[in-house]
Amino acid sequence: MKIRHTDDVSPVIVREPGAKNVTLRRLIDTPDGPDRFVMSMFEMEPNGATPPHYHDWEHELYVLSGSLRITQPVEGHEHPLRQGDVAFIPRGEPHGLVTGPDEHCRLLLVAPAERPPVNSFFLSDEAPQHDSAPSGAER
Ligand code: ZN
Repeated sequence: MKIRHTDDVSPVIVREPGAKNVTLRRLIDTPDGPDRFVMSMFEMEPNGATPPHYHDWEHELYVLSGSLRITQPVEGHEHPLRQGDVAFIPRGEPHGLVTGPDEHCRLLLVAPAERPPVNSFFLSDEAPQHDSAPSGAER
């Protein structure tokens, strides 16, 4: 068994491209030995954001304090969340988190211990760049 206090876990700055004013504390992480689930606490300051993204694993989220909005970039929807709200984000569903100028929050996030890579969600319809050779008159 492992027991620790949140205050004893150092926050790290979330440095994904597009992330703003967000830190996380890995409360229970893979070095602790979980088979299935890890638990993190995210803290968002005013005007904070995680970039819209999706991944092949789900989130379960619990708002400990404050308020924020969870976004659905495909639909263009934003849902306000406040202390005590929970959200389930299924695998593959694009999402992001934002706080307004007067908002801050702390939330608990549970995720699988083994996580495939996170994919950025692009709001543009333009085709992504590929590394493959350009189509041309090569023979
Ligand atoms: Zn996510």
